Order: sequence, then structure tokens, then C-alpha cells
Amino acid sequence: RTVYVNGEYLPETEASVSIFDRGFLFADAVYEVTSVLNGKLIDFEGHAVRLARSLNELGMENPISKEDLLEVHRELVRVNEIDEGLVYLQISRGADSDRDFVFPDPEKVKPTVVLFTQNKPGLAATVKPMKVISIDDIRWGRRDIKTVQLLYPSMGKMMAKAAGADDAWLIEDGFVTEGTSNNVYIVKDGKIITRGLSNDILHGITRAAVLRFAEEAQMEIEERNFTIEEAQNADEAFFTSASAFVMPVVEIDGKALGNGAPGNVALRLREIYLDESLKKAV
Ligand code: PLP
Repeated sequence: RTVYVNGEYLPETEASVSIFDRGFLFADAVYEVTSVLNGKLIDFEGHAVRLARSLNELGMENPISKEDLLEVHRELVRVNEIDEGLVYLQISRGADSDRDFVFPDPEKVKPTVVLFTQNKPGLAATVKPMKVISIDDIRWGRRDIKTVQLLYPSMGKMMAKAAGADDAWLIEDGFVTEGTSNNVYIVKDGKIITRGLSNDILHGITRAAVLRFAEEAQMEIEERNFTIEEAQNADEAFFTSASAFVMPVVEIDGKALGNGAPGNVALRLREIYLDESLKKAV
């Protein structure tokens, strides 16, 4: 596999990053994951815009233009012959001369830019009815910034696995925030209910697209908080993310939703999302 590190395309075995990199020592880094279908990038524009915002929120200068970023994505997809898969991008504040909590002088910062691909044949065809559990949301308060602080989400997935489920939904002050790596929705009497945007959740690129398509399809949408009990009593549920698109949820904390099968709204939105995003893929 060929990867990209700071302007160079290298075999993955020859690519390296300093042990003093702040991404490694402090999780002082942001990332994006863009899916690839038919060899093309899905929602690239949205991911590029959110990346710029994440960097800005952390006081990091954007080291790469949108045009160059697109070029690197495309080149990696091309050389690694990715038909279906993902492109992972990470930008850290770079290596400092030593380990120091204080950010390095902005003039001296040389961000570390890393990209690699993951081949995932069958990504678009895979619809897995998901079982989720609920766990406390103990993450920091700036979940709108897509940082690489992913230890708790990772632990959440392990807790789900230990409970015989596929993922965890996070609960804060009695309300569902989001999934460990996705935005979440319930459907009741045909209405799609999802938490509104704030610093409490990641502003999903897939969420934005799916809500737009739902609106265009005259579906009713309500952006508000909901509890896990409300979710358990919903007709259906689903989640969205760049790597899962729209995925039906059929069980929450051991309670089956509706008739226990993937819901029609979720399946319809998945189809619309895949069709429409492929038309605009670059
Ligand atoms: N919420 C969290 C916590 C995530 O990590 C992700 C994706 O990684 C999402 C939501 C979904 O965002 P997107 O649709 O942009 O992939």
C-alpha cells in the first residue's frame, strides 16, 4: 500500500512520523474519513470544509489547500486501486523539540499530514442490522471538533462487543448524544427525530446530506433531544457515518424495535444517499 506523509508518496513500510509528534503524545490532531465508491470520493467537499473548521477551532493553520487535498486523495485511490473503501486523513500539530503541554510557537509549527487508504470491497452492499447498547457519554465537551481522541469511543465499542452488541449509543444528562462513531436517529409515526447540532456532537457530513435528501423526499424531520426509552419505543432507528452510510438499528439495550427488522425509512434513506452521493462523487 502506498501512503502519503508530508508531501511524499511512500510504501507504508517506509513511512514514519517522529516520536515527538503531538498527535502521538497529546492527541493534538484532527482527522477525516472519506468513503470511496466506484473509485470516486463521496462527499469530499463536506469533509474538506469540516477539516478546515476543526483545524481552525484548535488554532492550527491549514497546511494543505482543498485542491491539493483532493489531488492526494485521488492519487492514493488510483495507485492503491481502491474501488470501494476509505481514505483516512490526519493532520497533527507536528513534532515539537520536546514533550511540552504548551503549543509550539505557531511560526515553528510544521504540521504532520498523513493519508492512507483502506480497501473495503462490498462497502455499499453491506447492510447489517445493528444491535446497540447505551453507555455514559464521558467524552470532552468539544465533540464538534473531529480530534483523534478516540479512546473512549474505542472502549465503548468493546463494551458493546462484550454485551453481544455491535455499537454503543452515548447518554448525557438523560439524552442520547450520538453513537461511538456515528450520528443517530429514531423514527416514530414516519417522523425522523435526531439531536440538533451543538458542541455536544460531531456535525456529521453524512447527517447533513441525509437530512437534506429526507427533506427533498418530503419526509418529516424533528431536530431535538430524545431519551433511550423513547428510542426503545420508536418504530425504527438508524445511524449515519461516512463509512457506514445509513445503517439500520434493530435492537437497543436488548429491546427489539418494531418487528425487529431494518426499518423502511432507514433502508430508503440509505438507497437515496448512495444514489445521490454517487452522482456527485469526485
Ligand atoms: N459522530 C462521531 C462521534 C463520529 O466519529 C462520526 C464519524 O466518524 C460521526 C458522528 C459521523 O460523521 P460523518 O458522517 O461525517 O462520518
